[in-house]
Amino acid sequence: MRMSEGCLIVISGPSGTGKGTVCSALLAKHPEIAYSISATTRKPREGEQDGVNYYFKEKTVFEEMIQNGELLEWAEVYGNYYGTPLAPIREKLSAGKDILLEIDTQGALKVMEKFPEGVFIFILPPSLEELEKRIRGRGTDAEDSIKRRLNAAAGEIKLAEKYQYAVINESVEETVETVAAILKAEHFKSKRC
Ligand code: 5GP
Repeated sequence: MRMSEGCLIVISGPSGTGKGTVCSALLAKHPEIAYSISATTRKPREGEQDGVNYYFKEKTVFEEMIQNGELLEWAEVYGNYYGTPLAPIREKLSAGKDILLEIDTQGALKVMEKFPEGVFIFILPPSLEELEKRIRGRGTDAEDSIKRRLNAAAGEIKLAEKYQYAVINESVEETVETVAAILKAEHFKSKRC
């Protein structure tokens, strides 16, 4: 698959690494970048809105989306399905817009195969201790979910080397600046996306 006009940006990183905050801040600073709203079978967290944070779907509906080829990629993460709707990506890229996907490593590896021209960025926490502090600090996850996320993080970090860029998220502001600089450089090279 090649969609040459816009740039497909993939950001991954362990849960709690702050990649969600980084993506929100990046989009606020660069409203020209579109955001890929994922579909998920996970229940909404407090404050999350359908069609804004995610498209919240029943499992059967999600499975239909897979069958119908509506997803660029999908993966099971912490017992729930998550997937990237393909249509908005096609639409934005062919309109010459950049689109940002915040997805897990399994999904990102699939996108790397289908769309190697994309820009793949891995967000790292300063340390695993700091990661645990951040996950506990946000207070949205039950203890078993926290443990699962921490176990998964160690394995995910090993995949950072498959990404073109790895950025340590010490401060959101600095990380956003670094990611914006990467995108600027990639646009400058622009043959790749
Ligand atoms: P959360 O439940 O914390 O919102 O997200 C859990 C994980 O699912 C995160 O690592 C997030 O990046 C990932 N995720 C969100 N949307 C997608 C998607 O469309 N595809 C894949 N593969 N992972 C996703």
